[in-house]
Amino acid sequence: MILQTMPIKDEFVSAKIKLMEERCRKNGLSLTIQRRAILENLSSRKDHPTADQIYAAIQDRVAGVSRTTVYRVLETFVQLGLAQKISNPEAKARFDADTTRHHHAACVSCEKVLDIDPSILPDIDLSKADLKGFQVFDCSVVAIGLCSDCSANGVSRSYQIN
Ligand SMILES: [Zn+2]
Ligand SMILES: [Zn+2]
Repeated sequence: MILQTMPIKDEFVSAKIKLMEERCRKNGLSLTIQRRAILENLSSRKDHPTADQIYAAIQDRVAGVSRTTVYRVLETFVQLGLAQKISNPEAKARFDADTTRHHHAACVSCEKVLDIDPSILPDIDLSKADLKGFQVFDCSVVAIGLCSDCSANGVSRSYQIN
């Protein structure tokens, strides 16, 4: 059910950078080295990193980058449609350069986030839900559970979500 971690193709990263260039230009945003490095890092990984994880990966290569910058840039990417923010059981936002609709499985112990192919879940029909006028733009599922590593390490199923 869960997709294997596929190696990221360089074409995906370069297409993403190209798209960022277009969208920045269109929105009057400058193409900073920081934006480029952050998008390059995000789109070359499949682990749905937090802002902190991206910061840790690029801080040595990008002069003057701060945690706050990384977080702000990621929020900009979400607004520009270059990344999506994923709901998950922990407080920290996780980001995904894959903006196509798909679902996620989140491990409550190690907080790993895996992709779930959207084709295996039926479309969710919210037309009968009483949402008090709430307009739904998109809907995705987050499966909460334990990853195979954590299960193998004997983490108990009763692990509590904070
Ligand atoms: Zn785990
Ligand atoms: Zn994903």
